[in-house]
Order: sequence, then C-alpha cells, then structure tokens
Amino acid sequence: MNIHEYQAKELLAKHGIGIPTGHAALTVDEAVAAAEKLPGPLYVVKAQIHAGGRGKGKFKELGPDAKGGVRLAKSIDEVREAATEMLGNTLVTIQTGEAGKQVNRLYVTDGVDIASEYYLSMLVDRATGRVAMVVSTEGGMDIEAVAHDTPEKITTIVIDPAQGFMPHHGRSLAFALKLKGDLNKAAQKLGKQLYHAFMEMDCEMLEINPLVETTDGQLLVLDTKMSFDGNALFRHKDIAELRDETEEDPAEVEASEYDLAYIKLDGNIGCMVNGAGLAMATMDIIKLNGAFPANFLDVGGGATTEKVTAAFKIILADDAVEGILVNIFGGIMRCDTIAEGIVAAAKEVELDVPLVVRLEGTNVDKGKAILDNSGLPIVSANDLGDAAQKIVAQVKEAA
Ligand code: ADP
Ligand code: MG
Repeated sequence: MNIHEYQAKELLAKHGIGIPTGHAALTVDEAVAAAEKLPGPLYVVKAQIHAGGRGKGKFKELGPDAKGGVRLAKSIDEVREAATEMLGNTLVTIQTGEAGKQVNRLYVTDGVDIASEYYLSMLVDRATGRVAMVVSTEGGMDIEAVAHDTPEKITTIVIDPAQGFMPHHGRSLAFALKLKGDLNKAAQKLGKQLYHAFMEMDCEMLEINPLVETTDGQLLVLDTKMSFDGNALFRHKDIAELRDETEEDPAEVEASEYDLAYIKLDGNIGCMVNGAGLAMATMDIIKLNGAFPANFLDVGGGATTEKVTAAFKIILADDAVEGILVNIFGGIMRCDTIAEGIVAAAKEVELDVPLVVRLEGTNVDKGKAILDNSGLPIVSANDLGDAAQKIVAQVKEAA
C-alpha cells in the first residue's frame, strides 16, 4: 500500500525525523489557511498524488508553458493562485503514464533554503533477506539515470535485521554523503531513526529524494515516498486508514473487496485462475503461444459463484480484453460446482468474447458436461497447452 507524501512525512516526524513544517489541504481556502499558519515568506505548494516527478510534470488542462506540480510561492496570494491552478486538474509525470492523475489534495509547506540535495532509500532486499539502504550525493535527480550513468555515485549499505542498525552503518552512510562535523553526526542519527521507523511500521520501501542540507546546517526530508507490506497492515490500523482508494486502479480496489488478487496487465487475454502459481504458469503459456495476458487474477482456493461472477465482471470491464481463459484446478472445490459457477456468471454478465475453460481435478467429467450442455459458446480444453492454443486461436479468429 502506498501513501501520500504529507502522510509519510507526518509518520517520519513522529519518529523524530526532521521535515519542513506543512499542512495538507483539500480546497483553495484550506491551502490559504495552511499557508497562514506557516512563517513564510517562502511557501511550497505540492500536488499530492501517488507518483513522483511532480516538479517536472505538466498539467493536461494548463498547456505546455504552465508550471508543474511543485510550486514555490512568495506570498499568500501566490499560494492561492497555485492551489487554484492545481486542484482538480490532471498532472502527468514520468511515473503516472499518459493518463496522468487528478490532483485532489495539496500539501503546503515551508520553503527551505537548500545547500545540497541527497538521495536515500530503503527497501527489503529479497536476495539477501536484509534491509538495503541506498544512498547517493546525487539528490533531486532521477536515481535510475544516476545508477545507469554513474554507478560509482551510489552506495548500498546492507543491514542484517538480526543485528539491527549498528554505529558502523551510520558512519558508512555519513561517509557516502561526504558529510563532515555536525552534519556527519546528524546523518548517522538519521540513518538509525529511519531504520527504526522502517522496521517498526513494516515498510516495504521508503525513498527520500531529496534529503536536503539547509543553509543553516540541518538535514531535512524534503520529499518522500513510502509503501507498506500489505500482509502486515492488520497490525497497523492507523497506517491502514491512510489508504487513498482514489489513487488506486478501480478494478484492483473492487477485486480486493471480493478478496480476489487482481493485477491489470497490458495484453488482451483475460485470465481467471485459482492459485498464484497456476496463474503465473497460465500467463507464461499464453505468452509462449504468442499472445499476452490482460491481467493476473487469482480467485483463491474457494472459488464460489459469487467470486467467479465478480471476477468475470472485473475482467470484462477492461476494454482491452478480447478473450478469456479460465484455468481452474478443482481440489477443495469440485469441478462440477466450479462449472455451475462459470455458467451462471457467463449468463449474468452476457459474455461477448470467446471463453476457453480448462478444468482439472475432482468430478472433472461432470464439470465438462455442465459446460458442454450449457448452450453457451464455451470451449473446453483438456490441458494447459491445449487451453492456451485454443484461446489464442479464438481471439485471432474473432479479430
Ligand atoms: P517530485 O520529486 O515529485 O518532483 P519534490 O518534492 O522532490 O517532488 O520536489 C521537486 C524539487 O522541488 C525538489 O528537488 C526541491 O528542489 C524543490 N522543493 C521541494 N520542496 C521544497 C521545499 N519545501 N523548499 C524548497 N524547495 C523544495
Ligand atoms: Mg522528489
């Protein structure tokens, strides 16, 4: 789960980490009121969307010469102007895709006098089973480009969770950022605080870009992105409440309501499968047959009629879908029950694209008979390879 910049900063501030003061706003009046609470004279009005690159982004409605989603304002009037221009409009950045994201919230913060910008991120490194802290002196830039062009400017510090954040980790961090004196000490302290915050909140990823040194010698988090391990959210009710469903793919939100694991992909063949491993294998075999899956969808072990119907609706709501492949193994559920669910769901949603079904497991013959006698144009398949070939052929034929 992702959260907004202002929410992430408020969480970091609770862990004692330095951030510029700021307030969130949903309307122009709230943005003005937020600015009035700040000391001034420099304010920054920032679009809150779940995507980076806002500063260099462009608003669809405002034309190519308008400013982006991070605006400096030198007076309350300029704050009002910036808020009026941004709220309700669509910001397109390198991370949003062409469609962009509508700006519904703003963050009005203190303008900071920046001496230097740095990069710092943390993530769970699956390869080592440890937490990696990635730091660079090249802050405020596109870190992928830095990693590509000047990899020597990136340092990775690996922390073993059994040992925790040790003083030498802090020294490595401060050294990598080339900091001296008090700032060096501040960086060591910050590293330790960030590690604790990361672990305590079950973060998946925490990126600070930029971390800044101010002209009066403080280290402040100027921009941050934070995401959390969904499997650990049950023990962080306060964080779970920060979820902003308007930032998520509506189909994925609906799928989570039915406890379906759904991820939209770029292809044209919708997949409905039970079990994540089988879903991966199904996507692979579709690709092997020269087509691309439109989604990953795991209906889980107990594929009820209700779940199957919801899954069909979600798949069909995607305009890119030109055919559906159902691949279900009847283990806990019997194949005849699943077949009845598929027939009922196909009738309810008035299926208008080819549907290939491969069933295997308990009562498979009964299941196939139900599909064959349904009067619906459902093609049944004998195995995974057969199923993939059939749906790819059907989609080509229909095109
Ligand atoms: P994004 O990464 O989405 O473009 P940032 O918050 O990183 O958004 O802002 C882009 C740039 O704007 C920063 O690199 C920094 O130079 C400047 N900036 C952001 N917030 C402030 C602030 N509070 N004071 C001064 N400059 C800022
Ligand atoms: Mg940034």
